[in-house]
Amino acid sequence: MKTYQADDRGYYGEFGGAFIPEMLYPNTEELRQNYLSIMEDPAFKAEFDQLLKDYVGRPTPLYFAERLSEKYQTKIYLKREDLCHTGAHKVNNTIGQILMAKKLGKNRIIAETGAGQHGVATATVCALMGIQCIVYMGEIDIARQAPNVARMKMLGAEVRPALSGSRTLKDATNEAIRDWINNPVDTHYIIGSVVGPHPYPDMVARFQAVISEEIKWQLKEKEGTENPDYLVACVGGGSNAAGTYYHYLDNEAVGIIAVEAAGKGVDSGESAATSALGKVGIIHGSKTLLMQTGDGQITEPYSISAGLDYPGVGPMHANLYKTGRGEFISITDEEAMEAGLMVSKLEGIIPAIETSHAFAIFDHKKFKPDDVVVINLSGRGDKDLQTYIDYFKL
Ligand SMILES: *Cc1c(COP(=O)(O)O)cnc(C)c1O
Repeated sequence: MKTYQADDRGYYGEFGGAFIPEMLYPNTEELRQNYLSIMEDPAFKAEFDQLLKDYVGRPTPLYFAERLSEKYQTKIYLKREDLCHTGAHKVNNTIGQILMAKKLGKNRIIAETGAGQHGVATATVCALMGIQCIVYMGEIDIARQAPNVARMKMLGAEVRPALSGSRTLKDATNEAIRDWINNPVDTHYIIGSVVGPHPYPDMVARFQAVISEEIKWQLKEKEGTENPDYLVACVGGGSNAAGTYYHYLDNEAVGIIAVEAAGKGVDSGESAATSALGKVGIIHGSKTLLMQTGDGQITEPYSISAGLDYPGVGPMHANLYKTGRGEFISITDEEAMEAGLMVSKLEGIIPAIETSHAFAIFDHKKFKPDDVVVINLSGRGDKDLQTYIDYFKL
């Protein structure tokens, strides 16, 4: 049967795999050999489910957005990942990976972070488990993201500045990989999205799959069917989208819409619309679509939302784009900001700017009145308040 899931070598069609330096092989190999059996162990599943319930606050509601539905003349449901502890979906993955680390006998966690959201989600679960946590972060990002640096410190993490190169996310990633190579036995590296070498994209997708698992029974309760007509999610690396699509990937009666950040416009030179602009290449150990120059240098992405400001996209999504299984729509900064304000006023929910991109699709695509459209509300907007204030002169 045709499938859009990863094969056992971590390939989604032609994308994925593990393109890593020899010295990293023992680390990823240990994880690759064990992740599926650990995740399928009933004791592991029980502990994961319990923490998602009691600590994260799952299941998150599936909310029928009445005023939004009326405005766009279609049935719109919101999957409320913004109500997760820490305010976004990222914690689903870090809970899963900290339990995985414990099963593998690791007592030290490393992570890299750009805007700081993944660093905070990682520091949170390390505090929960009483495990040492080191977060690598570019020196420039540390200066730009002071509130998240403070959160990580309060949670007991050590934030180590990456001082080389452009002193941003990719340099922090290099530092984290160097650390992991030097500490293969006691350390687990928590990657924050469906990116990186196999088995990370598949493992992270499986942890986030709780989102679509819940959508299925929640929609059945509300609409009498598990299947929406469309699923919509914003895509940075692609983890909230992967979780939203996961249990529907091979059900082609359910439409998949992926929303990317066009920044100041797809052709402006300041964009993060990876599928529209990307070419096949290797980033973070995975073969995927990424924004690059003619001679293969990775291009600096731009988006007003820090979480979508990534030059690549997870291999699952590269394959959804390439095969046409997913429909990709790019949304500019301006469209996203206006949509965020609109949702705040219509529904009393201030979305993260990442999510605001997803709400802007209604000006690009018409839905039928009886279509059921589920939008994954990946995070809350509190972290973005200053950006909203500056943009709208509030
Ligand atoms: C990090 C983040 C994203 C983007 O990451 P994905 O891996 O693509 O999900 C989207 N929304 C919010 C609220 C985020 O914090």
